[in-house]
Amino acid sequence: MGQARILVVEDEVIVARTIASQLSQLGYIVTGTASSGNAAIAKALETQPELILMDIILKGEMDGITTASKIHDQLDIPIIYLTAYGDEHTLERAKITQPFGYVVKPFTTKDLKIAIEIAILKHQLESELRESRDQLATLFNSMSDAVIATNEQGAVTFMNPAAEALTGWQQKDALGHEATKIFHIVNEVTEATLENPVTKVLREQQVVYLGESTSLITKSGKRIPIGDSASPLKRRPDQINGVVVVFWDLSERQQTKLLEQALEKEQEVNRLKSLFISTVSHEFRNPLTVVQTAVELIEMQGANLIDAKRAIYLKRIQGAVQSMEKLMEEVLFMGRAEAEKLIYNPAPLTLKQFCLELIEDFSIAESSLCEIIFTCHHENTFAVMDEELLRYMFGNLLSNAVKYSPRGGDIQFNLIYDQIEKVAIFNIQDQGIGIPEADQARLFESFYRASNAQSIQGTGLGLVIVKRCVDAHRGQISVTSEVGIGTTFTVILPLNSELALTEADE
Ligand code: ATP
Ligand code: MG
Repeated sequence: MGQARILVVEDEVIVARTIASQLSQLGYIVTGTASSGNAAIAKALETQPELILMDIILKGEMDGITTASKIHDQLDIPIIYLTAYGDEHTLERAKITQPFGYVVKPFTTKDLKIAIEIAILKHQLESELRESRDQLATLFNSMSDAVIATNEQGAVTFMNPAAEALTGWQQKDALGHEATKIFHIVNEVTEATLENPVTKVLREQQVVYLGESTSLITKSGKRIPIGDSASPLKRRPDQINGVVVVFWDLSERQQTKLLEQALEKEQEVNRLKSLFISTVSHEFRNPLTVVQTAVELIEMQGANLIDAKRAIYLKRIQGAVQSMEKLMEEVLFMGRAEAEKLIYNPAPLTLKQFCLELIEDFSIAESSLCEIIFTCHHENTFAVMDEELLRYMFGNLLSNAVKYSPRGGDIQFNLIYDQIEKVAIFNIQDQGIGIPEADQARLFESFYRASNAQSIQGTGLGLVIVKRCVDAHRGQISVTSEVGIGTTFTVILPLNSELALTEADE
């Protein structure tokens, strides 16, 4: 302090000199003196002082107040009036020019110094304030996020251009209106009006965020998905002066997300298709090699081939052809199910009888590697289901139970006929190798095989087919298993699957 550059405007030359010498004594630099308004303006422009001491009575047409207001229009220099006029009228006029001080003559050097120091400090603070306000305004105006501020009654006090663009309201029309009117939000799905975040912040006195699926209704009634947060504006920690809501348009992000999801799905479908083709061709190659080798051996040995050997080779060929047939059937079934052309033909049947017949057929085909023990304590087991799909379902589950069990192990097949719940519960329980827990969740995926089953032949399609058949009946399937102890598959089917289907569709 003390080095400030000051211009003295005073009509009395002697007084001007006295003030100038007082200022010099106080350590200030006097950039010049002027006795008329015009001279003052010229000196101010020329010497760019940091402060002007202005008398109100001046020589010429302009008085000090008019001069000050002209300077004020062109330059940002604080002005202190030095005057003998302390009357109301002059004071009111002077106030319009926003002076930084008003010192009534006669004054002491000390009065002068205090007035100057305070004016310079005030001016400096004001510049800083203006600068940060400008910065803030630039920030809000260039922000892509929309900002609306309100007072403590929830009336709009500010909107940035992004908020104007998004809501369709101009700041000048929105000012003073309830924020709920300008910022009207609804649930995207139910279309119900949601509580306005401004109201919520004023009540809860803390930051709040919008839930998912929120849409803004614009002035023209358009719906735009948005995300937002609202925070209290506090001048003191315990006093809310208003709310600031920041929100942004999510429509583009939502569209990008949908596109990404569609793309991911397509990539996944393509990946599965390639995997399917490569796995299926690989699976066909094994039995084909068996056939080829057996045929070559028969050819090579020609007339020397003894009957016993011929029977072995023919059996190998037969086995390979059978496994190719099974694979083909599975692939065709999958193809039909994928194209949603799975023919579902429910018809009345007696479940107990169906199961007994199935087990009999199965035991003949699998040449009784294991014993299947069937239990059902109900006599009347009438149901409406698709017999062919049931055959696929339980045929696959039984063949797994046999395949993944040691030779000669028992397999339990239980049927519970629950007339109250109107469901049939089937349990197929074996004492086989079991399924590691980590694999259990993925068993119903195409080609998925548990880590402990790799040495046993299989494609990993059986359970996928089972699941499709269960789904066609609107049923459920679950598995419990422990490695080395055994596995139980439970299938629950509605007794009248036809009815379940219609109910689910309604
Ligand atoms: P396939 O397509 O010839 O039936 P797969 O038997 O390997 O081949 P799924 O029937 O789909 O295929 O069974 C998938 C996997 O689930 C099997 O590879 C095996 O790891 C496991 N699994 C299924 N049933 C049992 C079971 N009863 N005991 C142990 N593991 C089983
Ligand atoms: Mg299987």
